[in-house]
Amino acid sequence: MPRIPAALLSLALAALLQAQAPFPAVAPTPSPVPVMREYPDTPAGKLLREIKERAEVVARVEHLSDVIGPRLTGSGQLRQAQAWAMAEMKKLGAVNVHEEAYDFGLAWTRGVDSARLLTHNGIRFRVDQAAWTVGTQGPVKGDLLLVDARNLEELKAFKSQLKGRILLRTNPDDKRPPLPRRGDMAAMQAEQAAMTQFLLDEGALALLQMSGRKNGLGFASGGPGRDPGRRSLPSATVPQEPYKMLVRLLARKEPVKLELSLGGSFSAAPVQAHNVVGEVPGREKPGEVVIVGGHLDSWDLGTGATDNATGSAIALELLRALQATGLKPKRTIRIVLWSGEEQGLLGSRAYVEAHKAELDALQAVLVHDMGTGMVKGFTLQGREACRSLMAQAIAPLNDLGVRELPLRAMNSTDHAPFDRAGVPAFAAIQEPVDYFLGTHHSQMDFPDHLVPDQLVQGAQAMAITAWELAEMDARLPHGIVVRPANPARP
Ligand SMILES: [Zn+2]
Repeated sequence: MPRIPAALLSLALAALLQAQAPFPAVAPTPSPVPVMREYPDTPAGKLLREIKERAEVVARVEHLSDVIGPRLTGSGQLRQAQAWAMAEMKKLGAVNVHEEAYDFGLAWTRGVDSARLLTHNGIRFRVDQAAWTVGTQGPVKGDLLLVDARNLEELKAFKSQLKGRILLRTNPDDKRPPLPRRGDMAAMQAEQAAMTQFLLDEGALALLQMSGRKNGLGFASGGPGRDPGRRSLPSATVPQEPYKMLVRLLARKEPVKLELSLGGSFSAAPVQAHNVVGEVPGREKPGEVVIVGGHLDSWDLGTGATDNATGSAIALELLRALQATGLKPKRTIRIVLWSGEEQGLLGSRAYVEAHKAELDALQAVLVHDMGTGMVKGFTLQGREACRSLMAQAIAPLNDLGVRELPLRAMNSTDHAPFDRAGVPAFAAIQEPVDYFLGTHHSQMDFPDHLVPDQLVQGAQAMAITAWELAEMDARLPHGIVVRPANPARP
């Protein structure tokens, strides 16, 4: 090999470095979190300062996400997270730290999923098996068929075309107005079960649906198979770009053939799931309780950083701040880290069921479950009678941007079973950041997407609201609220 002159070598090196120059600098977006310059000399002021200056909430999210990882309910990783959370609670001075078990059904473990087009361009693409559906037991090959049936009646039109086919469930070009909702949740589930049974009877191979997220993102969801008696079809979600390609190829009226492998598997027997509980006893009214919670369980395409290691870490941060300041609340502050949230609020439902007799003793329940974004207020869930006391509870946070108390209800996280049982239970309203377009249930859900100053503001908001609710003389009025459905959002 000839010797390369040093000058030439350094020129080549310079060119290489140039080629690897970083992206052009982008001006950082200003934070929406207002800066608090002074902290009042009150317990709330002490908690605000302690959390602002020494919060460990990012480190705890990173531990849950990077060290422990995805935490599907029923998995060993969730059990690991629960053991860790109990150890943290004890370290942070909580007492009565324990787990409460409930029956969950079969556990499910993701395997290796793959898909490859056997015709046309032959591309391999991302595919994510729907949890709690059966796997394919190795690769299967089948011709695709678009089956955009929205109910059993429409599905029956495909009779005797389904054998050996891999079905596309979503028609992205569907221009039909949506069918009116018939019946309640149970009726809808019964219809879904009847449709699955029809597909099984007709000999369909597998079912693919399009991810609800754009830009190559997958979306985790679950099938019906937690109950050992329920049968399922191998099912999976495909990101929008390859899915729409499959639909375009079918529109050419040519056979489109796929090789699909979905590796998920069930546990041999049903398992129990657990909620983790720990508390700081009230100094004057230990029998009255403010619950603060997040769900430790997650989906498993990412590591569950924003859904919902964030809410869990924020609940633990409240314990840390109480310990560091030495503040003892008048009422008991109880931290509950739920499980089975992603399968239908199973942990919080089980908690409400198991503690039916004690629900009157709850002052309030607060839940943080919309990712990393700053807290702007709480949904009042139709409880106008709670407005003035909630306004009092968030008053020390007004300068931090926590001001909203809309009457509307949020029903999609763990405060909802308490709310339905008549307990004043509220969900934090948060800046969306990139939650609903990005991290939520997708493979993007890693700590990269944390926004530390917003997350710390969220920890302040949850801690101070809980503290004030524990301290105030008055009790929040209970009662079951009958409310109309939320107005449709544009
Ligand atoms: Zn969540």
